[in-house]
Amino acid sequence: MNTGTHAHLLPLTLALISLVILADSSRGDDAAAVALVIHGGAGTILRDQMTPEREAALRAALTEALDIGYRILKAGGSSLDAVEAAVCVLEDSPLFNAGRGAVFTSEGKNEMDAAIMDGATRKAGAVASVTGIKNPVKAARKVMENTSHVMLVGKGAETFAREQGLQFEDSAYFFTQHRWDELQRTKEKEKELKQEYGSLAFPHTHLGTVGAVALDRDGNLAAATSTGGLANKRWGRVGDSPIIGAGTYADNATCAVSCTGRGEIFIRGAAAHEVSALMRHEKLSVEKAAKRVVHDELIELGGEGTGGLIALDRKGRFAMECNTPGMYRGYVDSNGKAHTFVYRDE
Ligand code: ASP
Repeated sequence: MNTGTHAHLLPLTLALISLVILADSSRGDDAAAVALVIHGGAGTILRDQMTPEREAALRAALTEALDIGYRILKAGGSSLDAVEAAVCVLEDSPLFNAGRGAVFTSEGKNEMDAAIMDGATRKAGAVASVTGIKNPVKAARKVMENTSHVMLVGKGAETFAREQGLQFEDSAYFFTQHRWDELQRTKEKEKELKQEYGSLAFPHTHLGTVGAVALDRDGNLAAATSTGGLANKRWGRVGDSPIIGAGTYADNATCAVSCTGRGEIFIRGAAAHEVSALMRHEKLSVEKAAKRVVHDELIELGGEGTGGLIALDRKGRFAMECNTPGMYRGYVDSNGKAHTFVYRDE
């Protein structure tokens, strides 16, 4: 092609390009780019217990969740849609302790918990101890948007989810051999501990809860968390994940947070809200607030190995902190590239 023929088009092209740049920067300094951070659970993740195949599969699932969530944000979708979609990908994977890969209760059932929160309105929705719902995070969102309540539990939550037209799956869908084996190991351990201490001891195995925090083009934050809870749990035990302020929190004034770890400690420390409170009252950055909660406050309550969290502020700054040997986690950089991490020292 003879470029000379189109030389007269050059000024027009330049003008158009600068218009596009202007349109983008007209959002101003305060309008951060979109951002997405996810986790797939914190716990005793050790290199010598990991196979290359398993690590590759975990990273691939995290990357898929990041890509799907980021695409929504890039297209102008809301942070709520992004966190819900990212969490659904992880719920649908058998690798994580949420949705399909949820751990078993001591009775061999899957009882799942999930929550979602909108940073713009501080509206929130949660479900706890639900069985059969394919994507508990979707049920949590329906609670937030279609009821005047924040949390529904057990049979009532399942009835509500059916009325909302959500998909259910039978127990075969939720059966994963590795979770079944984990239940047997946990029961064995429980027996040993009972003998050792002569009283009921509850061995905690937790790994694979999932969560996401996002910032959309309008500057709105959102957080979502989903889990099967602890393997071998009983008596209707519910952890921090569906409790607003404990495992999940979002407020445009501060940050969006999703936690993972020993839920009882996160509930007692009001961990997710604590990150927000440190930002609001002590004016800490999101990074410093997350560090304080994970490495000081949670350690004070529960010691090393309590868990971790992800947190994101309105400028797109974020933290991914854990006091466990590892936490499956990842974020999307400003070029849209997904980065994933497994071990704490990565
Ligand atoms: N926090 C979850 C719970 O206690 C478990 C986890 O994050 O692994 O239910």
